[in-house]
Order: sequence, then structure tokens, then C-alpha cells
Amino acid sequence: MKSIVSLILCLLFLSASYAQQQAFTLQDSLRGSITPEREWWDLLFYDLDVSVNPKEKYIEGTNLIRYKVLDENQLMQIDLQEPLRITSVKQKGKPLSFTSKGFAHFIELKEKQHIGEIGEIEISYAGTPKEAVNAPWDGGFSWKKDKNGKHFIATSCQGLGASVWWPNKDHMYDEVDSMAIRVTVPKDLVAVANGRLINKEETSTTTTFDWYVTNPINNYGVNINIGDYVLFEDTYQGEKGELDLTYYVLRDNVEKAKKQFEQVPPMLNAFEHWFGPYPFYEDSFKLVEVPYLGMEHQSSITYGNGYQNGYLGVDLSGTGWGLKFDFIIIHESGHEWFANNITYKDIADMWIHEGFTAYSENLYLDYNYGTKASEEYVLGTRRRIQNDRPIIGPYGVNKAGSSDMYYKGANILHTLRQLLEDDEKWRQILRGLNSRFYHQTVTTGEIENYLSEKTGIDLTAFFEQYLRTTQIPVLEYRISDDSITYRYTNIVSDFDMPVRIYIGEQEHWLFPKDNWKTEKLENADQLVFDQNIYVLPMAIVE
Ligand SMILES: [Zn+2]
Repeated sequence: MKSIVSLILCLLFLSASYAQQQAFTLQDSLRGSITPEREWWDLLFYDLDVSVNPKEKYIEGTNLIRYKVLDENQLMQIDLQEPLRITSVKQKGKPLSFTSKGFAHFIELKEKQHIGEIGEIEISYAGTPKEAVNAPWDGGFSWKKDKNGKHFIATSCQGLGASVWWPNKDHMYDEVDSMAIRVTVPKDLVAVANGRLINKEETSTTTTFDWYVTNPINNYGVNINIGDYVLFEDTYQGEKGELDLTYYVLRDNVEKAKKQFEQVPPMLNAFEHWFGPYPFYEDSFKLVEVPYLGMEHQSSITYGNGYQNGYLGVDLSGTGWGLKFDFIIIHESGHEWFANNITYKDIADMWIHEGFTAYSENLYLDYNYGTKASEEYVLGTRRRIQNDRPIIGPYGVNKAGSSDMYYKGANILHTLRQLLEDDEKWRQILRGLNSRFYHQTVTTGEIENYLSEKTGIDLTAFFEQYLRTTQIPVLEYRISDDSITYRYTNIVSDFDMPVRIYIGEQEHWLFPKDNWKTEKLENADQLVFDQNIYVLPMAIVE
């Protein structure tokens, strides 16, 4: 009998893993893994030069890639998605040949690559890029017009990949140290990319805008936005001195923007307090209006929330607190710390971006409206948790986990804050994350280990439970004659997170495990569970 059961289980397991494997293609692996043709070279610098022809929805350009040789190899993977095509590849002025597997192009270098040497390769490309279906989620180029009939264009590409509009090493583990972005557009338009505008050149028909990013930048963080923009500026006195605030909005929206963007300084106050200095002072802070909702493009946050509070006017928490701030200004700016400063190596770990940033929404409230407001907000967002799939996705195939990475992620971090019972220590841990992993790409394991080490709590089972299963711990309990009997169910092994309760004003901690335990508790019938800790209390009726 036992052997039949285990055989059935084994078959189930095999068929499940078979189905899992079948769901992914060679293209998924080429996109999502560190292939041998990527691994041998380290990105140093991109010099991207692109001309945009709005009328024809056509682009052409070059990307000069500077790299350091880590290992001897002469086959280099560069990614560019159809219908864009590579028109030439050159090294030291000599053309190189390549073979293609879909978006992955394997360039055959003629010269032997010596470890430690710096090389450069220039990719020329052209074509009509994929048009965004539902930016920013299903991205590409958004070719829109403003109310005055002027072109209003933007790129967005998280998940899909930057190779949808320019050739690059399209994997998140490796970032350039700095980047130049040169954009040529028709003369009546302004092009805004990341970093600072360092030069502008005009011909009789076009303007070329030279943007420069002096910090490491991830691929999907790179963007270009084109429109009939008006610029206005401000400065912010922050932890690292003077920060330039630069705003590009459509001509008709300047007055509305000046009012709405007054939320930027209180946002920076809150996030510098909780997370440490804004991570890109050298590159300035920008908000740039776009024809879609918004995205965390590094040092050029894109904005399309209609100059209103909430998420397109809606409070995601249902508590009223979500209407106290402009969701896109707060959320997308939070990503400067968690996404752009600390960046996932694999999109399977996307909760590092979205969990911490969803959590930043309630820290914004905490700083500006108090802890009670922030608690109500984060508890309010709990109703959005689906527990459909684990938060962490499959590795190596460019697939994210459940959208629970947002609000379950926020509630996990909010729970952790309760366990510490020391807000100042918690703040130092969040700031510590941003200095320990400053301008780096990371795995969830590194974040988990850091949090375990700095909190002094072994969080292995905690993260296993909340990130890798869809189970929410159930706290079963019975109350009788000044005592409480309780245990956990629906937990992974070794999960033993304490739970806070109140009897009147009196605070008390329970230490549940998977076996029943009884303890004496005066006035136990008056107990209230602290909802800030994300478990499901369940009274067991005898
Ligand atoms: Zn986000």
C-alpha cells in the first residue's frame, strides 16, 4: 500500500515538473538565464544613439557596448526583439557576422578575448518597434498624440525587456556603470531620457538631446519620452545636500503639475528618513509626463496619473488614506530605493521591488500622517491579496511570481516591523539594506539573510511560509476559565512566529507552534488579536 501511494505521489510530482518544464521554451531560457554567451563579459557602458521618426513610427540607431572580459570566449549574446533588426555589428571598425535564435543574436568576435581586457562592440539597428498594447504592463513604444495634436511618445518595457526597443544584454543581473542616451526627434518636440541633459544640437529639421546617467542603471529603467514638454524646476535640501528636481509636463498641464508635484518634497522627506539618501543625486530627480499610468524609470519617474490623488483617483486600501497622496508619485518614487538602487537579478524575485515599494506607501503615510494611518492603510490593502500563487516565481525563465508580491509583500514587512518592537532599529535595517546593497543587483536570499542577521531573528521559516507558499498561518485557539489553548495550522515546518494580543490596555505575546499549548491568561475572554501581524486567528468551538 505504502509503495503504491508513494508511486502515485511520485508520478504526480513528475507530471507536475514535466508540465512546468513544458511551459517554458528555449526563448524563455535564452531571455531569463545567464547563458555562457552572456556570462564571460561584464557590462561597463552603453552609448545609445537613437533617431525617432514619429510619423513613420520608425526608429534607427546604434548602441556602442563597452565590456570587460571575464573569461575567454568569442561568442557574444546580444538581444534585440523583432520586428527590429540588426543592420550591422562592428568591432574596431570591422564588420562581424552573427547567427540569430529569435531575439537572441550570437555575435562571432574575430579577435581572441583576453581576461581583464576592455572591449567595445557597436550594434546598428533599425525598424518599426513593437507598439505597446497596454503600457506599461504590455509595453513597447506608445505612439500617442496630446490634445493639441502633437506627438506624445514613450517607451516602457519591464518584463518584456529593453531589447524590445534597443539592442543590449537583456538580463537584469548585469548593469552598466554609466550610460549615454542620445535621442534625435523632429524639431518641435522635446526628448527626455534618464540622468541629466548635457547637450542639445539642432539642425533645420531635428533636435538631438544628449542625456547622461552617471550611475549604474538596469535595462528596463532606461526610457525615452517625447512630447511638447515644458520644463520647470525646483531644488530639495536632502541628506546628501542639494537635489535638483526637474519636471517635464505637457504644455497644457503646467499649472496642474505645479500643484500636484508639491507632493515630491514630503515624499523625499519620508523616504530619506526611512530608507536613506535618494540614491541618484548626481543624476537628479525627474518626473516626466507620459501617455500611460507610470513607471519607475531611474531618475526619470514617468507619470500619467492625471494629476489626482489615489491610483487613477481610487484608494487601493479602501480606508481613505490612499486618497491623501498621488499613488504614482509616491509608489514609483519609492522604487528609486527598491528597484533602481537595489535591483533583482532575476524577475522571479520581483517582490524585492514591489513588496518593499508597496510597503513604502504606508511608510510615506507613517512619516506624514502617523503610525495609525499607516497601519490602517496596509491592513486595508490586505483585501487585495489573492494567495493564488507563491510570491516568488520560477527562476531562469524571465517569469515573475504572483501579484501578491505587492500587498502581501507589504504586509509581510509590516508584520516584521511588529516582531521587532523597535521602530528605530527597523528604520536602521531599511536604511542598512540601501547602503549594504547600494547600486547592486541581488537575490532574495541575500535580502532574507540580511534581514535575519540584522533583526537577530532566524527568518528562514517566516520567508519560506510567506514567499514560497500560498498558505497563511491559521492560529487556532480556545478560551476557557482564564486560560488560552492554541496552536498553528497551515504552516511550513519550524514556523513559530509569535503573535501579539491585547487584553484591555495590556499587551501580551503568544508563542504558538504546531502543537497545542495552554497558558494561564487573566480575562482571556476579553482578548483582541493584533491585526498588524498577518495570521488568521480562528476560534475553535468545542
Ligand atoms: Zn511598482
